[in-house]
Amino acid sequence: MYEITDKGIKQINRTIQREFSVMKHTVLQFDEISAIQSAVNACYSNILRECEKIYLAVANEAYKGITERDGLFSYLWLQQWLYRYDPLTKYVFAHEIDRKRARTFEAVVASKRNDLAKELKQAMYNLTVQTTQYADEVTDYAVLQGYIDSGIEKVRWISEQDGRVCATCRGRDGKVYDVHKVPEKPHIRCRCYLLPASNKQG
Ligand SMILES: [Zn+2]
Repeated sequence: MYEITDKGIKQINRTIQREFSVMKHTVLQFDEISAIQSAVNACYSNILRECEKIYLAVANEAYKGITERDGLFSYLWLQQWLYRYDPLTKYVFAHEIDRKRARTFEAVVASKRNDLAKELKQAMYNLTVQTTQYADEVTDYAVLQGYIDSGIEKVRWISEQDGRVCATCRGRDGKVYDVHKVPEKPHIRCRCYLLPASNKQG
């Protein structure tokens, strides 16, 4: 279900590693605040651009996997999606990237050089949690849209079968929902998914 997503997540994680490493080199070389500021800004801008590229590709591939149709999702759509308030994460993706960027800049300026690696590691981790979450969410969105556009009316909620699934998700396992009334996922990192259900079941 999330194979395309996982590939995208790997690519984003590689970009995060690379961009942070470039930024760290600059920060270690220059003491000027303005140089540090532009290194941090460039790092986050490049990661954001990569995320946009990957999310769009993942959404369109997931959609195509269901409908066999190309390119429903545009860059404009993605921008709107990234600027919407997300009840699951409780923030706006784009604004949260800006907050993380600002926090990283402050941490870099404040940290002694020997703390820098630790601060950057934490910043990378926090960023990875966010970018991974939205890769999952863009997939879920595209899949559901694919079902709707294929004329599927009912979908079945399938919980992860790994024993770590939460009580809410376990309770929903196997339940059938109208495609227009699928409940929001109950928590982040939820990898429950939907499969088409015949209208007679459920
Ligand atoms: Zn779940």
